[in-house]
Amino acid sequence: MFSYRHAFHAGNHADVLKHITLLATLRHLMKKEAGITFVDTHAGAGLYRLDGDYAEKAGEAAEGIVRLMAALRPVSGAAAPSTPALDDYLDLIAGFNPDGQLRVYPGSPFVIQSLMRTESRDRLKLFELHPTDSRTLTANIAQLDPGRQVTVALQDGFEGLKPLMPPPPSTSSSRRALVLIDPSYEIKSDYAKVTACIQESLKRFPTGCYLVWYPIIPRAEAHDLPRRLKTLCNNAQRSWLHATLNIGHKVLGPNERQGLTASGMFVVNPPHTLKAELQDTLPLLRDVLGRGRGQAQTLETGGA
Ligand code: SAM
Repeated sequence: MFSYRHAFHAGNHADVLKHITLLATLRHLMKKEAGITFVDTHAGAGLYRLDGDYAEKAGEAAEGIVRLMAALRPVSGAAAPSTPALDDYLDLIAGFNPDGQLRVYPGSPFVIQSLMRTESRDRLKLFELHPTDSRTLTANIAQLDPGRQVTVALQDGFEGLKPLMPPPPSTSSSRRALVLIDPSYEIKSDYAKVTACIQESLKRFPTGCYLVWYPIIPRAEAHDLPRRLKTLCNNAQRSWLHATLNIGHKVLGPNERQGLTASGMFVVNPPHTLKAELQDTLPLLRDVLGRGRGQAQTLETGGA
């Protein structure tokens, strides 16, 4: 069952899209004082070596964060185009690599954790079912000495989310939550589980902000997922945003594979600022990361 290891894919174009969307959403939510419950249902290992065996074998970061950093933060110091959302993301990645060499890539738990406010105002619940990745995640998080603000559970994230919604009220008595749902879709049933999870979460806590990543691959379930999510949101009168990035097909060299070419982010109850931020950012991502035929980006919103 568990052949997926995120270390092979860390920092690829899909992570770039996912983490830029996540970061821009977090920034907006953090503008309000009230504490937030963060849930990462499929957390991965938390931190990844880009110069380690896994990453070097797959080489996916080379077509993601490595290319992006080289193009937009050239060592020559030459001026390069950017956007506030991209700058924020590249600053965050640079902060994990203080000597200027891109060696470490932060996964979603660390993207979230790096913005959390102390004084226990915010809390982060991480779920990871792979025993090795869960152990690595626990060790990586322990280094931060986060006390009870961050917890790691070796548990199914779809199941683990249920009792957390609705989240407890913060000191100002408002309830706030951001949930990232980022399965590997290694098992076909993940698609239906995502839909059921959003449906149930919208009943338990309709005002939560839910972010779903999914791969765009020739499989009916993948194609149907955003359509089903839109219907759920429209029926529940919740707003949504749907962003996709396709890096296109490259001309293959010997022993090369096309790999994943496109993915999408679906956000339920997105911040009102997110569309404008991605509107500028996605075309730049397409231009920098695009490899050829089919490269494209889309952005649509609706509901509520
Ligand atoms: N969210 C991470 C990030 O952005 O850095 C990447 C997560 S990766 C795409 C998906 C992870 O989910 C894998 O590490 C996999 O072992 C884990 N996983 C698979 N099924 C799971 C489940 N039912 N509950 C929790 N974790 C699961």
